[in-house]
Amino acid sequence: MSARRTGWVWHELYGWHDTGRAAGYVLGAPGVQPFGHFESAESKTRFASLVEVSGLREHLVEVRPRAAAEEDLLRVHTEAHVRSMQEQSRRREGGDMGDGTSPFGWNGYEVAALAAGGTVHAVRAVLDGTVDNAYALVRPPGHHAVADRGMGFCMFANVAVAIEHARAHDGLRRFAVVDWDVHHGNGTEAIFLDDPDVLTISVHQDGNYPADTGALEDRGRGDALGTAVNVPLPPGSGNGAYLAAFDQVVVPAVEAFAPELILVACGFDACNADPLATMMVTSSTYRTMTAGLVALADRVCSGRLVMSHEGGYSPIYVPFCGLAVVEALSGHDTGIADPFEPDWIDWPGQEVQPHQQAVIDRARALLGPGASR
Ligand SMILES: [Zn+2]
Repeated sequence: MSARRTGWVWHELYGWHDTGRAAGYVLGAPGVQPFGHFESAESKTRFASLVEVSGLREHLVEVRPRAAAEEDLLRVHTEAHVRSMQEQSRRREGGDMGDGTSPFGWNGYEVAALAAGGTVHAVRAVLDGTVDNAYALVRPPGHHAVADRGMGFCMFANVAVAIEHARAHDGLRRFAVVDWDVHHGNGTEAIFLDDPDVLTISVHQDGNYPADTGALEDRGRGDALGTAVNVPLPPGSGNGAYLAAFDQVVVPAVEAFAPELILVACGFDACNADPLATMMVTSSTYRTMTAGLVALADRVCSGRLVMSHEGGYSPIYVPFCGLAVVEALSGHDTGIADPFEPDWIDWPGQEVQPHQQAVIDRARALLGPGASR
């Protein structure tokens, strides 16, 4: 690993985003004792804590987030959605992002605007040469939000807002988004469905969330046909399936597309300990995929790579997956070992299974001749 200047976005306010007392995401149903929402602060604050305590933070370049301006949000979202979020955010009791399972507390708009702005500023730091690459540990996440509403715990489409900001201010045109959150990146895909200059690739658990999007056959529209790529992996997929999907679909697709910037919708909910999915990925696979993206970015876009944090609901395990990713981005090894991986790495099914490989083969075949190698 060669050392890089890696930008690091984190703000205390991300930990203050209030998702209330739902049990997971169920609120007020008979027999359901109130607990905490799945999208709680802890997986993010503990990730930031480990980056600090491990000493890795000293090797990173702090990039201070600033809130996305209204005009930044309005390049992607409807005015009605932005106004609704602002209005609900002023209520003491807060509101909901748009689907009834994505609550936010008082002032939630300000936190979400800071999450979009954190991704914007991570991109800016890479484009102006302040850093080589960057990790934006932002909250709430963004990849499910569509133009006219939030959903799936996402208020605004953080990555899409950053892309449109870079187009408006930095003159970039072509972008690739690699989404390895375990849920389908439906919002990013929908926002750029007709845009031939944004490649969206989502590797996700088939039929998990949203249930009706992310099929292999969904590949974009019109002039943009082929610029949406979906790899809906079967439940139970582990390290072997993810590495195969990465090597055989993600890398050739990005390489053929030749973007000017690679963004990653970085969720850690494909990990072996996640309560919202049933995959088995461990930290070394996130490390390997990140190292692969660093090398890929070197080949196609002068190393320009920005990750924006998405889901990941294990407060215990997300920090170790995150540490592995930021170590691989920065080329700095803290020497802190993932204490869980030895117990999980040899589970039966960690190798790619035939029914998983079949999905990867189909996704690869749909890439077309430009991506064959
Ligand atoms: Zn997710």
